[in-house]
Amino acid sequence: MQNLRIPGPTPCPPEVLQAMGHQMINHRGVEFADALKDVTSKMKKVFQTQADPMLITGSGTAGLETAVVNMLSPGDTVLSVSIGVFGERFAKIAETYGANVVALNFPHGQAANPSSVAEALKRNPAVKAVLVTHNETSTGITNDLGAIAKIVKSAGKLLLVDCISSLGSIDVPVDEWGIDVAISGSQKGWMVPPGMAMVAVSEAGWQAYAEARMPRFYLDLGKARKSLEKGQTPWTPNVSAVLAFRIALDMMLAEGLENIFARHRRMGQFTRDGIKALGLTLLADEQYASNTVTSVVADRGLDPKKLNKIMREEFDIVLAGGQGPLEGKIFRIGHLGLVKEADIQAVFDALKIALPKAGFTG
Ligand SMILES: *Cc1c(COP(=O)(O)O)cnc(C)c1O
Repeated sequence: MQNLRIPGPTPCPPEVLQAMGHQMINHRGVEFADALKDVTSKMKKVFQTQADPMLITGSGTAGLETAVVNMLSPGDTVLSVSIGVFGERFAKIAETYGANVVALNFPHGQAANPSSVAEALKRNPAVKAVLVTHNETSTGITNDLGAIAKIVKSAGKLLLVDCISSLGSIDVPVDEWGIDVAISGSQKGWMVPPGMAMVAVSEAGWQAYAEARMPRFYLDLGKARKSLEKGQTPWTPNVSAVLAFRIALDMMLAEGLENIFARHRRMGQFTRDGIKALGLTLLADEQYASNTVTSVVADRGLDPKKLNKIMREEFDIVLAGGQGPLEGKIFRIGHLGLVKEADIQAVFDALKIALPKAGFTG
């Protein structure tokens, strides 16, 4: 079986795949309503929120767009705290819909400095909302979201967070940190195929929604909230993915949130230790290194594209490359969702053979 080690889509457990194969059911019927209500109450536990997270049919990016168009009006000033490709995407969406984006960009491979966020807010009192990526998948960095959230909330701003590759794997206490819109995606730590974004909105978020004037129709959260009261979604949902999600959530809650977070911490450390033992260099400062994805610098002659080709063709292991400015400069290993030590050990065993073949001189 292929060892898919990219940061999403991630491998799905057999039980989840089996649920994907369920015959279609009426999405306006009681069976679906039961499933959606169950999924919603279980998502609440993982999001650690009192709000009902809503499902958007679409990939994670649809979730980011949902946050922007439901919270903001054209001309609103937003502070974009970006540390990589996904942070830039969030900002680009806001800009596309007419927001006035103030960019606070950090070099790819570094975490956002919370005190720079505080200074940027002081310099730009008109800011209405702050956009942040919790776990930047393109670089393998986890921001200190707790510290950033404290600053944003004490300044009285809305906090919109891309938690797509952290929620469900890394601890994100949504209510405790005061996240106004928390976004995730089914194909990351949730062990479900791609096609659903999850969005949780705070009370302050709903107040902002009432005034937000950006154009929206399919992604209108007011419609989603109203439908959810009936155990429905406004438009035909991805029925198969919802049924699969129910099974995946059962598995996650059976493992227990604390155990899931601990397993990801262990996977992150195991991956970083093994990478260093192979003589390779981590991109991230270990203090901010992500426990869901590890970025490895392609130095000392290493051709990362050649490496990933050899890994796939000779070992049936699929790694990710670099994105944006890091294309051709790093390779990445995904370790989120369905992952255990043996999956990562198999990567190390193959790397031992593949690295010299891909030019690495050690
Ligand atoms: C995967 C991911 C996204 C969304 O990408 P989609 O391809 O639209 O699902 C956004 N942000 C982060 C941090 C991600 O990891």
